[in-house]
Amino acid sequence: MVLSELAARLNCAEYKNWVKAGHCLLLLRGCLQGFVAREVLAFHRGLLAAAPSLGPRASCRSGSQCSPRARQFQPQCQVCAEWKQEILKHHTNRNGDVHWGNCRPGRWPVDAWEVAKAFMPRGLADKTGPEECDAVALLSLINSCDHFTVDRKKVTEVIRCRNEIMHSSEMKVSSLWLRDFQMKIRNFLNEFKSIPEIVAAYTRIEQLLTSDWAVHLPAEDQRDGCEYETGVYLSESQVNEIEMELLKEKLQEIYLQAQEQDMLPEEILNRLQVVKEFLRNNKDLRNGLTEDLQKLDSLHLQHQKPDPKELGAQTPEGKA
Ligand SMILES: [Zn+2]
Repeated sequence: MVLSELAARLNCAEYKNWVKAGHCLLLLRGCLQGFVAREVLAFHRGLLAAAPSLGPRASCRSGSQCSPRARQFQPQCQVCAEWKQEILKHHTNRNGDVHWGNCRPGRWPVDAWEVAKAFMPRGLADKTGPEECDAVALLSLINSCDHFTVDRKKVTEVIRCRNEIMHSSEMKVSSLWLRDFQMKIRNFLNEFKSIPEIVAAYTRIEQLLTSDWAVHLPAEDQRDGCEYETGVYLSESQVNEIEMELLKEKLQEIYLQAQEQDMLPEEILNRLQVVKEFLRNNKDLRNGLTEDLQKLDSLHLQHQKPDPKELGAQTPEGKA
């Protein structure tokens, strides 16, 4: 029964905390999308104004030869070379990892979003706008692009929390952790006091984190009064949707780690097993994740038969 599975999960305070924290990330993403979209356009306009030679009349001369791969990009034409330089000039992490593989350099002169993706984490090549991105993608952009004037320490602290949520193998966080997360989110959002939609989201996030977060389960007739007073209710299907989004993001993260082989295959397998075990007991969530799990399984099978070409191509460093 769908209802009883959800009720059982939320009976575990630390799992409930995990879902709450994840819900905050979704609210954070929601309130950053519009802002990021506008700022990315402004950033692109600014670049073109300063260097008209990069504008729409410029176009890549090498076609498919100017194709980045993962962190590698060797431009084969003048336009892409200039663009690369310009992007690096504004990159706060220019000496570290830049995931050029996200971008189609031929589109840089006309598509602001293709430029923005050079400031984001790996695995976003197919995302065509901020509305398709998760919170960490948007936070990384704000952190890595000097167009955004914020206290970067406040951004990286939220990113670190997000990684802790996603990497929590048991999908649980303590109440103490959640309070700390709330403080970091508050510090970060305070940087955007002039952006109304961010200020509005801040109120919702604060309410969510300080409430007992009563989940409205029609079958349960015992609800205590204090939960009524907090006023934050979610329907069963809303909670389910949040859980599903979080698990999808978690699986995608495992997928990218497996793909780039920046973790031992056994470790990947362990993480995957924990999620699978969890889903075995929670059929209501499992059905929506079949595709994601299959994708991971087939990647894992590929890696069990190592391609000799790939053995020399492993990168020693960890993830971003
Ligand atoms: Zn080119």
